[in-house]
Amino acid sequence: MSQNHWVYTFGGGRAEGNARMKELLGGKGANLAEMTNLGVRVPPGFTLTTEACRQFMRTGELPGEVRPQVERALRLLEEWQGCRFGDNANPLLVSVRSGAAKSMPGMMDTVLNLGLNDATVAGLKARSGNGRFAFDCYRRFVQMYGDVVLGLKPEGDEEDPFEELLTQRKAARGVVSDVDLTEDDLRELVGAFKQRIAERTGHPYPQDPMEQLWGAILAVFRSWNNPRAISYRRIYKLSELGGTAVNVQAMVFGNLGTDCATGVAFTRDPSTGEATFFGEFLPNAQGEDVVAGIRTPIPIGRSQETAGKSLEETMPKAYAELTEVYRRLEKHYADMQDLEFTIQNGVLYLLQTRTGKRTGQAAVRIAVEMVDEGLIDEKTAVLRVDPEAIVQILAPAFDPQEKRSAIAAGRLLAKGLPAGPGAASGRVVLSAEKALDMVKNKNERVLLVRTETSPEDIAGMEVAEGILTARGGMTSHAAVVARGMGKSCVAGCTALEVDASRKEVRAGGKVIKQGDYLSIDGSTGEVLLGEIPTSPSEIIRALVEGSVEIEASPATRRFQRLLSWADQYRTLRVRTNADQPLDARVARSLGAEGIGLCRTEHMFFGGDRITAVREMILAEDATQRARALDKLLPMQREDFVGIFRAMEGLPVTIRLLDPPLHEFLPHDRAALERVAVEMKVPVERLRQQVEQLSEFNPMLGHRGCRLGITHPEIYGMQVRAIFEAASDLALAGIAVEPEVMIPLVGTVEEIRATAKQVRDIASVVLAERGAVVPYLVGTMIEVPRACLVADQIAAEAEFFSFGTNDLTQMTFGFSRDDAAKFLDAYLREGILAADPFQSLDVEGVGQLVRLAAERGRAARSGIKLGICGEHGGDPASVRFFHRAGLDYVSCSPYRVPIARLAAAQEAIGRPAETGA
Ligand code: ADP
Ligand code: MG
Ligand code: MG
Repeated sequence: MSQNHWVYTFGGGRAEGNARMKELLGGKGANLAEMTNLGVRVPPGFTLTTEACRQFMRTGELPGEVRPQVERALRLLEEWQGCRFGDNANPLLVSVRSGAAKSMPGMMDTVLNLGLNDATVAGLKARSGNGRFAFDCYRRFVQMYGDVVLGLKPEGDEEDPFEELLTQRKAARGVVSDVDLTEDDLRELVGAFKQRIAERTGHPYPQDPMEQLWGAILAVFRSWNNPRAISYRRIYKLSELGGTAVNVQAMVFGNLGTDCATGVAFTRDPSTGEATFFGEFLPNAQGEDVVAGIRTPIPIGRSQETAGKSLEETMPKAYAELTEVYRRLEKHYADMQDLEFTIQNGVLYLLQTRTGKRTGQAAVRIAVEMVDEGLIDEKTAVLRVDPEAIVQILAPAFDPQEKRSAIAAGRLLAKGLPAGPGAASGRVVLSAEKALDMVKNKNERVLLVRTETSPEDIAGMEVAEGILTARGGMTSHAAVVARGMGKSCVAGCTALEVDASRKEVRAGGKVIKQGDYLSIDGSTGEVLLGEIPTSPSEIIRALVEGSVEIEASPATRRFQRLLSWADQYRTLRVRTNADQPLDARVARSLGAEGIGLCRTEHMFFGGDRITAVREMILAEDATQRARALDKLLPMQREDFVGIFRAMEGLPVTIRLLDPPLHEFLPHDRAALERVAVEMKVPVERLRQQVEQLSEFNPMLGHRGCRLGITHPEIYGMQVRAIFEAASDLALAGIAVEPEVMIPLVGTVEEIRATAKQVRDIASVVLAERGAVVPYLVGTMIEVPRACLVADQIAAEAEFFSFGTNDLTQMTFGFSRDDAAKFLDAYLREGILAADPFQSLDVEGVGQLVRLAAERGRAARSGIKLGICGEHGGDPASVRFFHRAGLDYVSCSPYRVPIARLAAAQEAIGRPAETGA
């Protein structure tokens, strides 16, 4: 490709571009080219490159070569179509469409029917013999041009000036649908629209088609930086995407009559993944009518509800061709496709194909079934599923019992389309702003309820539990975006009346005020009054609870197959953070290969232990303390027995006491009094001790191994409990692998002293019991100093486990407990790209991890390296830990499958670009 190739044509049976050129031609343009080359019927056109967009954004003007190249391509288009742009008798009309490298549906702007003016509209009328059609196109064009190019489209909830005129006209004529307006109505509307444009802009609307074309091209380029598009890129982390392409394409008309239609389709069901063709259409309609929710679209395939109205029945020839085309495209791209098509006088045209967005459930099903169908291999299947999608798969659904009784109690309010599976309950909010306010400022769970959603709503959709709309189908904006976000969604719930001015929703004679609770089941479409408790997903019931037979659950079998493929490719091990036997068992059933972090302090709070813990802390002398520790010892031993049993045969890392002691003491007056009575000590003495233990900055205070060094008897008791438990089990024939972890080490002396104590006690206990237990003593690496002297520390430690929460805190100097106050602003202002407590800061903290790993390995080859912070369950961080060469990550039980998948994906390498 030469440097100055700004315009790529497609038409006449061949295209200059292809599907591999998404960066340059945008996804839409690249795929229009690909389809043209495949011989699929696509209206011809040409694509201005994203490079042209970038140049335009940089310099404020287009490179000089662009204009002649566009004019040349336009001549070619005229030749292919047999008509002329701006010709009064036989005008060529075009659409001007945006399209970035990654699809951003509905975020940028499109203008249809461009090339119409007062003269060419007459030509269109004469050629088509259909005046109503000609003025319908003209009306749409002037409106889109006014909105998009001349900037009359209002932001937020204000009404579109053209929609207002349209609504007035329909009211005056006593009709509800646009289709019922006559040619005269439409002609008059065009006049009114033009007048409004002149009023608002101070200029008449441009009649010159060339001026229209350049206006639209530049408007599409500019729309790359409209607020919607910017916030979409932020949410989907697409900030590196550079500009949009512009596609100029000959129009085909779905609004020429009843043998015409426009529609969208998915080659498989995007909610469930089932291999059935799935789509919706509207007869006699154009463009976005289907997704805009203006009229409720009709399913494509024959079914009971649509008897007589489906595409299959009304346009069997076009339907048959569509079926053939979708099979061909899916096979060619080897992935589920999302198609846009138009039928003009019974002839099918494809206007777009792209990889279809899908739910987590659907992603797994499609990946596994495509392997069975021989379309993709197992590696590709593993790469196809976004690890975060697993969150959605494992998310709870409504408790069936609770839902049944809610329905029996008359709480079923209405039913809509099951557009995004999963269950959600929350307080009703009627706008995106309100959703943000309630969630961010009031910590409420909300359900966003709208007549229909539009791209402006995405920030609100993102924070909502679920989305409910009164209009729009399975492919409406709400449905597509919700599925992409993994949110539960019920769309097209026509019984609902959303009244934004009175801040209420009405349905079936009931009034639900903003702030009241509603529940939606996105798998069935049910909308229920009030809150409904949820219960675990089918996969959790099958794998974790055993209440469903795995063999009887196809979803679980597919999940297991996909993860078993992931395990074949993954080299990074995945452990879990678990403090209780129950968590350990859950994690194990989800594939955990050991425990990477068992926090002993959590055990201190259970039952009446806290009293013994407090006695230990408040002891006045060594004998008193020894007495309290004697009480704790058998309890800790039992804890460890439980954990070791649950993890039989797998390593278990136990961290010795870490938090500052005052966390175990009561703080307010009432609690102090209660404890004083319980412990039979004077309140005043208790208060003084609490005061003595309190610190200005406990996170940097008396905690971790500092505690073990000043109170060796506490660690001593814990180590004894660990080895007594391990010995007892070993003697009973149960394999145990304890790994004793010393927290917060910063100097080699700290670990030397503490590790020696651990080993000494271990030897004593093992000798006492006559048991042989293989064990390791190691440290948590969470103080930056420890990373720097990791070689010295490795001489004493048999393993390192990166405590990335503290390491992040101390590397940034951000208090984990206070960072929320400024992190939001940091993220908004772009000072940080991501919350470093959620996703590891590879650039900074990551360097420390790599450094410590290197120095540790150099000093002790074969040292075991793991990580046990929250980052162990974050896919991007897991990928980094793989690259850094760690042996394992450890994360919370439900994130174990996510880490397994992310680790496999990183081991396999970047996903292959789909689509030829
Ligand atoms: P988006 O990126 O928002 O999906 P598109 O560029 O795909 O926007 O345009 C939206 C819709 O406009 C298309 O789905 C299609 O129905 C209609 N459209 C675009 N170009 C044409 C055309 N050349 N002929 C007929 N309809 C078109
Ligand atoms: Mg589109
Ligand atoms: Mg820590």
